[in-house]
Amino acid sequence: MPRWTSDALCAIAQSCAPARAWSGNRWSPITGDLVTVVCREGEAAITATEVQFHWGWRYSNHLTSAFESEVYAVTPHGWASLYGQLSGTDPALPPVLSLAASNSILEEAEGLVAQISSALLGPRVAECVLCYVHRMITEFGCDCRLRFATHYRDVRAPRATGLERRLGRVGGYCDCEIFLNGYEPRPQYWVPVAGAELDEDEESDFTWPDPLPDCAGVRAGSTQPCSLWWRQQRRW
Ligand SMILES: [Zn+2]
Ligand SMILES: [Zn+2]
Repeated sequence: MPRWTSDALCAIAQSCAPARAWSGNRWSPITGDLVTVVCREGEAAITATEVQFHWGWRYSNHLTSAFESEVYAVTPHGWASLYGQLSGTDPALPPVLSLAASNSILEEAEGLVAQISSALLGPRVAECVLCYVHRMITEFGCDCRLRFATHYRDVRAPRATGLERRLGRVGGYCDCEIFLNGYEPRPQYWVPVAGAELDEDEESDFTWPDPLPDCAGVRAGSTQPCSLWWRQQRRW
């Protein structure tokens, strides 16, 4: 199953369910269900199409206060449920003119979904791995894995199998640690801390610009950072 399915489901869950919160001694309760309805042609029975959503959700790691639950198929012949193993003839989708027409509509819709999710979640043209990972964790958070770094590698440089090892050597064992321990913007990009009080004999405090400048770009297939970044310079 394509990796984007889990990433897209994760983004969908995070956009419609609140994140779980830690309140002193326990996690906030699960308050919602994520129900998947697959509208398609064919028999009202569970097929590989529905099962792939089971696996897509299993690896989505969305960490929201909702559980993924039932997956339904709905076709012009009726409906069926994956976990409950129930089925029926009502409700059903309205019949379509012809199978060929509906297949091409389905293919078009699937292509569109794939395009949208890779446009939302994939690296931009010439974007470097660090600018991409930083942009993604700013929006979606770190899930304590190299989720976005490995996604970048998979779609941009599948032969760069040493990427995780290389990031681990600079303390980047998950997406956010790349920036905690490994890399930072070069000094010319840092900006003074807003509202910081300055003593006469103290240098101004500088911090990362927010938002970061646009990626300076890398050549296709590279997993190197662009010229925005360098290895962190220890200041102690
Ligand atoms: Zn992290
Ligand atoms: Zn960059």
